[in-house]
Amino acid sequence: MLTSSDVQILDERDPLSCFHDKFELPAGVVYLDGNSLGPLVRGVAERVRGLVEDEWGKRLVRGWMDCGWIDLPRIVGDKIGRLIGAAPGTVVAADTTSVNLYKLLSASLALRPERRVILSDFGNFPNDLYIIQGLIAQTGGAYELKLVDREDVSASLDENVAALVLTEVDYRTGYRYNMRELTDKAHAMGALALWDLCHSAGAFPVDLDNADVDLAVGCGYKYLSGGPGAPAYLYVARRLQDSIKPVISGWMGHEQPFAFDLDYRPANGILRNVAGTPHVLGLAALDTALDVLLEADLAQVQEKSLQLGDLFMNLVEDQLGNFGFIPVTPREWAIRGSQVSFRHPQGYAIMKALIAEGVIGDFRAPDVMRFGFTPLCTRYQDVWRAVTILKSIMEREAWRDPSYSRRDKVT
Ligand SMILES: *Cc1c(COP(=O)(O)O)cnc(C)c1O
Repeated sequence: MLTSSDVQILDERDPLSCFHDKFELPAGVVYLDGNSLGPLVRGVAERVRGLVEDEWGKRLVRGWMDCGWIDLPRIVGDKIGRLIGAAPGTVVAADTTSVNLYKLLSASLALRPERRVILSDFGNFPNDLYIIQGLIAQTGGAYELKLVDREDVSASLDENVAALVLTEVDYRTGYRYNMRELTDKAHAMGALALWDLCHSAGAFPVDLDNADVDLAVGCGYKYLSGGPGAPAYLYVARRLQDSIKPVISGWMGHEQPFAFDLDYRPANGILRNVAGTPHVLGLAALDTALDVLLEADLAQVQEKSLQLGDLFMNLVEDQLGNFGFIPVTPREWAIRGSQVSFRHPQGYAIMKALIAEGVIGDFRAPDVMRFGFTPLCTRYQDVWRAVTILKSIMEREAWRDPSYSRRDKVT
């Protein structure tokens, strides 16, 4: 059995331990929900304050040029590109993941006009399925959304599929797809591959260009720590950029936004996928947060994330064997993201009790307790503390407090 001093040694040997102090966390909190809202990075508050008081306050409209606001979508996009194996000029930061998915999926359907199937899996984040459903409704039902079990995705790729739309890491279980293999298979069948990287970027290396991915989207507020409602991003492989016809053909994606031509002409390259005016406040926060992630070696980040997950699963197995937690996250490193999850019939109330005692994870219906690791910030001792408190809650049956069963608007 592991002891708390074994865990202390893991922290002492951790090559990423110096990053812990680059985050601001309230004292006494064990934060295991960076996969839902990344923790606050030091320096972000100052950047945003400076932007508001000095740039907006003093430069006013001149800030667009003087302070480089207008270039933030591209600058932040290129920074994100370095985390996801995307060359400069293939990523832009804009809008939300939902809107970006809508934009890129519309464009990809136009690139495969003779095909009528959008393929995804039952485990995909429901939001992504809603976006696909809305788009299909807009076409008057001209397309079919085909949902299959994850084991059947590869075999379901056939010559009717226009686009394969998957989230690389399952938001509930933490299962991770083989992006390269499925992208190759999609291409072999003539389909485009569109990946959602919400639970990937910033947690482990992603290699979009090398995997020959066509299109990708992801959000800025999870592992990228851009703050609540941070701008999202989208990726278009260089080879496809000139064939994309933006469906939200706004002026910021125009070749010359300030020529005020009556006709839309798309900008060259990735910028045509920007619809309207950039969210400067959000982009500035994300821009500063990314600088910390970019200092780290993502292979080390991934290794630590998987070690943290192993530690969590081992401790639950050792210490909470009799309390009915069913692990749903794969043990194998090759197919795991940066979280561990357990099913438990009382999962909601147990998670509420944990949060009340300072261990913040989250809950996903119907019965999944989710613990995410932000490896630059999470320490091995945090995992130890989380499991110790979880054990105490189970022994005391603290979760039986009726206030813990009341469902909140956000879980
Ligand atoms: C978090 C998440 C989103 C979020 O989309 P928003 O438009 O930012 O609300 C989308 N897809 C997946 C897979 C996610 O995990």
